[in-house]
Amino acid sequence: MSQQLQRAVITGGAGFLGSHLCDRFLAEGWEVVCMDNLITGDLRNIEHLSGNPRFHFFHQDVTEFIHVPGSVDAVLHFASPASPLDYLELPIQTLKVGALGTHKALGLAREKGARFLLASTSECYGDPLVHPQREDYWGNVNPVGPRGVYDEAKRFAEAMTMAYHRYHKLRTRIVRIFNTYGPRMRLNDGRALPAFMSQALRGEPITVFGDGSQTRSFCYVDDLVEGIYRLLHSDEAYPVNIGNPNEMTIKEFAERITRLVGSNSSIIYQELPVDDPKQRRPDISKAKRLLGWEPRFDLDTGLARTLSYFRERLDAPLRGPRV
Ligand code: UDP
Repeated sequence: MSQQLQRAVITGGAGFLGSHLCDRFLAEGWEVVCMDNLITGDLRNIEHLSGNPRFHFFHQDVTEFIHVPGSVDAVLHFASPASPLDYLELPIQTLKVGALGTHKALGLAREKGARFLLASTSECYGDPLVHPQREDYWGNVNPVGPRGVYDEAKRFAEAMTMAYHRYHKLRTRIVRIFNTYGPRMRLNDGRALPAFMSQALRGEPITVFGDGSQTRSFCYVDDLVEGIYRLLHSDEAYPVNIGNPNEMTIKEFAERITRLVGSNSSIIYQELPVDDPKQRRPDISKAKRLLGWEPRFDLDTGLARTLSYFRERLDAPLRGPRV
């Protein structure tokens, strides 16, 4: 691993994943420039960093020209609405940050001679016809469905990143992130885990979409951050899946959370969103081979940690529009 990397720009740094990355890079001794326009990010995710002299927050929309004074060794592009509810409500911003934002972030990396790491997604595989998903599967994406704004923006972002790699010889990395969970997820972001946990905690019915037989594989955030940190320091320009292959149905997931919370909430079934993938599970043999990485947190441990955060958040007086 290279020792001279020191200053990182993290776009989307006030978001769920971005803020955990800020923590990790600071803990490793880096200086961190965190950029966020706060449309889905939240200052509460980074308020504990405000006294740190190596941490800087730029309130900025990364689809506009980005200027960062001084040297930069790594640019990590994590800005994007990322839950299906968010990108359905913010379709144009989602397309813009995946396309224009990626272009600007790549431009910054090129200007500074920095490494670039793109947060891509298992959504590149769409509703996959190959299972589990390997990086060489090209996917089954509906470009004109409601999820297309996210999926196609990220696919474009991957193509743009590879173009900068090939044409400008930029050192680029692409991580394909599978469902990730942990503290700092927004309670109302509409994703399965925050929905189920807050419903179970409030004793409300658990809203399972469809018949709940669709599958996902959930990775704890600290495992994801470890994989990303290793990938940045590797030499691999092609995409690498980072996720936990522990696959389960959404119904099982809902039951697991209800049990953990000790709630007697019942399940109610609601309409399945359009193009909701039927199955998803990462093949992580590439990450194992190249990065020596595999997840360490089992679901019970990860869920217990997330639950303490959600309990605190539900107890805390509301201090802003996003809870
Ligand atoms: N889901 C659900 N109830 C909810 C929210 C989500 O049953 O209140 C389902 C959703 O339809 C999908 C799965 O849970 O099949 C995971 O959804 P999420 O929004 O967390 O992420 P996705 O994997 O779809 O991007």
